[in-house]
Amino acid sequence: MTHALITGGAGFIGSHLAERLLKDGYQVTVIDDLSTGQFKNIAPLEGRPDFRYAIEDIRNSTVMDRLVSECDIIYHLAAAVGVQKIITEPINTIEVNIGGTEVVLKTARRYRKKVLIASTSEVYGKGVSFPFEEDNDCLMGPTSRNRWAYATSKAIDEFLALAYHREIGLPVVIFRLFNTVGPRQSGQYGMVVPRFVQWAMKGEPIRVYGDGQQSRCFGNVLDVIDAIQRLATMSDGVGEVFNIGSSEEISILQLAERIIERTDSPSEIKLIPYAEAYEPGFEDFRRRVPSTEKIKRATGWTPTTSLDTTIDQMIAYYKEHEING
Ligand code: UDP
Repeated sequence: MTHALITGGAGFIGSHLAERLLKDGYQVTVIDDLSTGQFKNIAPLEGRPDFRYAIEDIRNSTVMDRLVSECDIIYHLAAAVGVQKIITEPINTIEVNIGGTEVVLKTARRYRKKVLIASTSEVYGKGVSFPFEEDNDCLMGPTSRNRWAYATSKAIDEFLALAYHREIGLPVVIFRLFNTVGPRQSGQYGMVVPRFVQWAMKGEPIRVYGDGQQSRCFGNVLDVIDAIQRLATMSDGVGEVFNIGSSEEISILQLAERIIERTDSPSEIKLIPYAEAYEPGFEDFRRRVPSTEKIKRATGWTPTTSLDTTIDQMIAYYKEHEING
């Protein structure tokens, strides 16, 4: 039986991944400090003989040494995430993202374990050629803007992982996640879709930042996990970087309208200036579109769930569960 260690396994994506791996017959261990992850995400798995967890910071190298020595493969998802959180906690963002990945890779090297590293579309920065391909240049903004600390910290994670691969042959695979959404996601840290769905369901104003003409592609979390698992189980692809995301592009204003329509909500749309929403000088991305040709060529994966279906799944989830921000 393959034993997987998921860092950040109590988070939105990590907990869905844990469920999928258990379904596939893996033994699963989760490490999560519950900074943005929530215990309730893994509570239904508690008590299973094939599942265990450690509530701990991944920078605790003693704990990580034990967990890594006992597993066959590591899915490294633990990171400081969420634009809102990144803006208000820049020290934590940099230290967790760089320090955490350093511990994961050092420990993986000790026991020579395969590591899947979660990165982000933020590393493309202000890329201007669409769709984003893995080998495109990354164009960061100035160090005086907090947002770029997140992108840069994840770019360093990628450099470090690729260096471990090139210098000592550690089997690493990096995946860059584009906007990923689905049931269980919290809106507390800034993510737009869970926020809009919950505001619409409560009949509260939908707060669209800027002019609402910026666009994103929102991928369904279960599609994304399928992509991660294809990368984890294929024999080649080590030392490579892959985009994972949807190609269905929508402006944030259209997203608000779509969600109002699907929830049949009386909510009004309010345009809020970026400086008021985040911080003065905040830089948003106008567009962010992945090329998924590389992962398709390597694994045959393409996203299959439409945004409407995902929104409906989220509405159904929030009807059953407590609204979470
Ligand atoms: N956004 C918004 N209202 C919110 C939260 C986000 O209009 O309450 C916008 C945000 O400015 C961005 C888009 O929605 O243009 C996606 O934001 P999110 O934080 O979900 O992801 P990211 O910016 O990392 O793509």
